[in-house]
Amino acid sequence: MTQPEFALQDIHWLMDLLQTVEVGIVVLDQHYKVRAWNGFMENHSGLSAGETQGHNLFTLFPDLPVHWLERKISTVRLLNTRTFSSWEQRPYLFRFRNRRPITGIEPFMYQNITFFPLTDLNGEVDSVCLLIYDVTDMASNRRQLERSNAQLTRLSQIDGLTGLFNRSTWEAFLDTEFQRNHRYGSEAALVMLDIDHFKPINDTYGHPAGDEVIRTISRLIRHNLRQPDIAGRYGGEEFAVILPETDREGAHCFAERIREVVEQQVIPCDSADLQVTLSLGVATASPDFASADDWLKTADKALYISKESGRNRVSVLD
Ligand code: GH3
Ligand code: MG
Ligand code: MG
Repeated sequence: MTQPEFALQDIHWLMDLLQTVEVGIVVLDQHYKVRAWNGFMENHSGLSAGETQGHNLFTLFPDLPVHWLERKISTVRLLNTRTFSSWEQRPYLFRFRNRRPITGIEPFMYQNITFFPLTDLNGEVDSVCLLIYDVTDMASNRRQLERSNAQLTRLSQIDGLTGLFNRSTWEAFLDTEFQRNHRYGSEAALVMLDIDHFKPINDTYGHPAGDEVIRTISRLIRHNLRQPDIAGRYGGEEFAVILPETDREGAHCFAERIREVVEQQVIPCDSADLQVTLSLGVATASPDFASADDWLKTADKALYISKESGRNRVSVLD
């Protein structure tokens, strides 16, 4: 082969390579007109090189983020330097359908993009090249991992039987609420609830019936909460509710309402229709409490008074 023939052969291979490589290649002139559009771009956009060449990119793809892309490209031109955009900043530039079988749950192709300047023979920046990488697999795995972690975090905070916060999570909320009203002197109340004579239910009707009673009462508590209230399962058949921005009357009213709905609720189980009652203790927040634990002990004392004075009642301590 002669020297020019050899060089021509090289260029031919190179063109073939650029055409088939699994990366999108787009070259734009200074008026954003397409100068190169490889096979990857043809396959995913549905537009052939012939249909795009010489046309303004923003006319071809009206959905492109014009300002963002113009800023990126002008930086590359001005500084004669490379720049990069990751899927985490911007999931995609070109909205291409995701056709990968494994990551089929993602509706579109996630893209990383490299922008770099192409200079002419005088070293002046002539055009800008965009390399578009399909990173759907990586992005999809990462997003699934994040979703699983979020779900695990949530599950570890929730009591399995009742769907209420478990004790340690609820205590963390109590601590936060205590700090908040210690600092700002805002009103708040704490309610402790305990099922009356629960042990005989387990003994007579069995543990699954007891579980159903606990579940039903949790549901009744949940249905009577306002948005900021925080309910937890404090122990086996004990519950606790934080009522932020609530005064003595408000807290008493809440506790009395729960007491009544529980008293009226019939809970069907295999062998009988069960009815239970609750004893409740309310403690309003006080600047005298040195810790969240003091507050909790006061609510517990109020609960004890309800038990001692006949059960199925509400007692309030300030
Ligand atoms: P009181 O009116 O004084 O509160 O009497 P009580 O029988 O309700 O109180 P006690 O604390 O003696 O009994 C609580 C019982 O709750 C003991 C335990 O077997 C039962 N228990 C605790 N956790 C669960 C649970 O998850 N499911 C069921 N079915 N029973 C539970
Ligand atoms: Mg009990
Ligand atoms: Mg108990």
